[in-house]
Amino acid sequence: MNHEGTMARRAAIGLLLLTLAATTGASSLAQSKATIFEGADLIADGDRPVVRDSAILVEKGLITAAGPRSSVRAPSGVVRVDLRGKTIMPALVNLHGHVGYQKGATFAAANYTRETIVDQLNQYAYYGVGAVFTAGTDAGDLAFQIRDEAPMGALLRTAGRGFAAPNAGPGVAAMRDAAYGVTTDDEARRFVREIARRRPDFIKIWVDDRNGSVQKLSPSLYRAMIDEAHQQGIRVVAHVYYLTDARDLVEAGVDGFLHLVRDAEMDDGLAARMKAKNVFVTPNLSVSGRGVVTPRWFDDALLAETVSASVLDPIRANATGRGGGGPSENAKRAYDIQVRSLARLHKAGVTIALGDDTGIQNSFSGYTEVMELQRMAAAGMTPAEVIVAATRTPAQLLRLNMGSITAGKSADFIVLDANPLDDITNARKISRVYLRGQELDRAAIRAKLTRP
Ligand SMILES: [Zn+2]
Repeated sequence: MNHEGTMARRAAIGLLLLTLAATTGASSLAQSKATIFEGADLIADGDRPVVRDSAILVEKGLITAAGPRSSVRAPSGVVRVDLRGKTIMPALVNLHGHVGYQKGATFAAANYTRETIVDQLNQYAYYGVGAVFTAGTDAGDLAFQIRDEAPMGALLRTAGRGFAAPNAGPGVAAMRDAAYGVTTDDEARRFVREIARRRPDFIKIWVDDRNGSVQKLSPSLYRAMIDEAHQQGIRVVAHVYYLTDARDLVEAGVDGFLHLVRDAEMDDGLAARMKAKNVFVTPNLSVSGRGVVTPRWFDDALLAETVSASVLDPIRANATGRGGGGPSENAKRAYDIQVRSLARLHKAGVTIALGDDTGIQNSFSGYTEVMELQRMAAAGMTPAEVIVAATRTPAQLLRLNMGSITAGKSADFIVLDANPLDDITNARKISRVYLRGQELDRAAIRAKLTRP
């Protein structure tokens, strides 16, 4: 065997040993022994009655029983975790995010590395998010690799590269090259077949002219893409801005909207068509309301747990420098339109799923999701409806084995100091997070993310 071959073989064996060490290390105890979590108030699903004095049995990362403590039999040698006084709810699932571009205070394509993404997946997990779908800004193989490897932290789901008219995808320059630029029906179908080979969780399209500054994806092109995607067994989600485009996309067969419409209120006719054609929406109120809603997000102690002052101080200085940081009339009007649209869609029975456009500039993983819960409640959803929209619904849409705390599901849950069904802001009071049956080391994540 030549020298290079030997080196390659040694490297391969080294990697194998490292992988074995990683999978049989500290986590093995938690994984091999059954664990029972006892005494908490259990929200197995947002819309089911709370189980007082509950027990959850977890074996090899899966929930094998959950219910009143008296109904759950613990095997001998089980590890017992006393959670009296706490409330347990399913982990959150974010159906509209972007990963890899923000690092510290910078926002750039050069930040898009495995380390940046894994840090963000851990930041998501810190706030109780068990999975995130990233919408069209993942060029290359990296997101698909991380999806398949499932490192500790939130699970990653991805659309890979999204689709737009040439140079008309993501609104910010740093992300723009990640999208395919499509000009003909033939290209539309060819590119969809190309990305379909990687089995994206959805296909993402942008239908927006960015206030007249770029070319909008034409109805003929998005019809070709939706048709081709559906032939490949893949659903299509759309970035949309204008009411007229939303109406036509529903008729063209789109499966979901990643924004509420922003030029006008969504009307009863559109709501009825979305309901009839089973088109879901992620509201993104948290991001849209950043400059509008008080108290100001950058002053929130919950955010400072994972984002250092060196990142937040310039943001605060910038905001207060511009006329005292008060919201513009335009921003307020645009936000109010979306709040009323969400209330109307919700009333009409349209499927609502947690999604925030998290990961665009200064929209921080996990924290943004916790705030989105409050924004959905402020738009008129009950805490129970908000919890369903943030857990079971997006989990089902992403075909994930999470979103409820029932036998057979992955053990992904949040332990809270107070019950979010009483007040949704109690979702901020996170005591512990468990993903795939393992407790997250929140102190270590916090230390790493805020290291100067
Ligand atoms: Zn987005």
